[in-house]
Amino acid sequence: MKFYYDLHIHSCLSPCGDEDMTPNNIVNMSLLKGLDFIAVTDHNSILNLEAVINCSKNTDVKVIPGMEIETSEEIHMLSLFPNLIDAENCYDTVSKNMLGIKNRPDIFGRQLIMNDNDEITGIEDMLLVTATKLNLDKVKLLVENNHGICIPAHIDRNSYSIISNLGTIPDIGFSCVELSKNADFSQYNNYFYKKIRNSDAHYLEDIFEADNYVDIEEKSIECLFSHLK
Ligand SMILES: [Zn+2]
Ligand SMILES: [Zn+2]
Repeated sequence: MKFYYDLHIHSCLSPCGDEDMTPNNIVNMSLLKGLDFIAVTDHNSILNLEAVINCSKNTDVKVIPGMEIETSEEIHMLSLFPNLIDAENCYDTVSKNMLGIKNRPDIFGRQLIMNDNDEITGIEDMLLVTATKLNLDKVKLLVENNHGICIPAHIDRNSYSIISNLGTIPDIGFSCVELSKNADFSQYNNYFYKKIRNSDAHYLEDIFEADNYVDIEEKSIECLFSHLK
């Protein structure tokens, strides 16, 4: 069966994410667009995941817990987890390996933590859009040790991507790569990796329509993960 996905969406916790990217708005927009799977993947943090997951309960959209981790080489890695606890355990290490730079909301934007009523329950002070102290190998291992899938993000872009920063995709066992909205899939035909395309939405209107799908047996995180692995 075809299930439509967008597995790279930022919430208002990312300083670059619009403040309208609240838990309820993300879920409702994804439902309007007819998506089956979404992942919320804030920069180096997971603190809005619980609220988004709660908002999605009893709806037709499945929320995959995620995070966009920035390695010490300034490579963005889309990290997806089978459940919130695994995401939290991974975040625990990521948060201990931040550079400790304070956010400047006037420059970068606020980093809002919300509950499932879209009420602000906290503001993250540490700037989230920075590299961590963890290198690529460590990030991959960390994500996989927490039962997640580590996917090089937007490999077609010329910044913060594995190819732009390393010149190649090192042969360290990735199963899947992410292409961004306007990437030409045919340019990547000789890649033996599975390829997914996500929006990297920072604004509600940028969340994808039901265009990209996985053909899997059932709408479950287990099925999606065994397809991506
Ligand atoms: Zn990115
Ligand atoms: Zn992103």
